[in-house]
Amino acid sequence: MHLCFFNDGRLGLVRDSVVHDVSTALDALPAQRYPFPRHDLLIERLPELRERIEALADTATVPVSAARFQSPVANPGKIVAAPVNYRKHLEEAIAEPETFSRAHVRQIQETGLFLKATSSLIGPSQPVRIRHADRRTDHEVELAVVIGRRCNGVSRAEALGYVAGYCIGLDITVRGPEERSLRKSLDSYTVLGPWLVTADELGNLSGLELALSVNGEVRQHANTRDLILGVPELIEFASSFYTLEPGDVLLTGTPEGVGPIRPGDEMHACIDRLGEMRVRIEAAAEGAHS
Ligand code: MN
Repeated sequence: MHLCFFNDGRLGLVRDSVVHDVSTALDALPAQRYPFPRHDLLIERLPELRERIEALADTATVPVSAARFQSPVANPGKIVAAPVNYRKHLEEAIAEPETFSRAHVRQIQETGLFLKATSSLIGPSQPVRIRHADRRTDHEVELAVVIGRRCNGVSRAEALGYVAGYCIGLDITVRGPEERSLRKSLDSYTVLGPWLVTADELGNLSGLELALSVNGEVRQHANTRDLILGVPELIEFASSFYTLEPGDVLLTGTPEGVGPIRPGDEMHACIDRLGEMRVRIEAAAEGAHS
C-alpha cells in the first residue's frame, strides 16, 4: 500500500500514478481528548484500517503529477536520526575538517543517534526555507523508516516486525560546530515523502539504490547495502535507549556526496521502489514573523 497526505490534509492511496482520496477512513480513528497522545494515531491503527482504506480507493482521484504531497506521517512523536552511517560519507567528512567539525566525525557506534525536532517536518510540496544563509547548508538523502508498533528493547532479529513502512527522507543540515539536533532542526529541514510504502509491499530492504540531484546534477548516488548499521541494527540500538512509538521516524543516515543547496535550487530525490520527489529551496523570511 502507498499511503500519502496531499492537498491540505487529504488522506490518499496511490495506485498506478493516481491518488485516490480515502480521507473518510480517518473517521474510524477514535475521538481524542486533551491531553493528546504523543504518537501517530493513523500509523498505530493502520493494520485495522487497511481494508477500509482499500475499499474506499474507487472514489475521487487526482493524478500523482497534480497532487501536492505533504509528509506521509502527520504526527510523529520523535524523529530519530543516524549520523555518518555510510563508510564513504565518513571518509569525505574526515577529508574536509573545515566543513565537518572534528567533534562530530566519529563512528556511529561511538556517536550513537540524535533527535531532530518534529517541528522541522514538511512534505515535498512545501519548500525548504534556508536560514543562516551565510553558512553552508547541505542536502542529505536517506532511507526513512516509520515505526508501526510500540517497541522497547527489541532485538535486531525481531526489529523489522515493528516497522509500518518506508519513505524517502531528506535531512537538511547546517554545517558547523553546534550539536546536530540544533543544526538539523530548523523549520522545514526534515522532508518526508512522497508517500509511505508499507513494509509488506516493499519486501526485501537490502540493495535499494538512492540518489539525489540538485538542478539536474547528480550529487548523491549509493545503495543501502552499504549502510554501516542496517535498519534492524538501528531499531535495536534506538529501542535499547527509549521506547519507539507508532509513527516515530528513523532516518538511517546519508551516503557520500553531500553538498550545498541555495535558494532557487531544486532537489530531486529517489529511492528504489519508494518513488521520487522534487523539493524547492527558498530563502526564509527575515526578521520576526509567525
Ligand atoms: Mn543525516
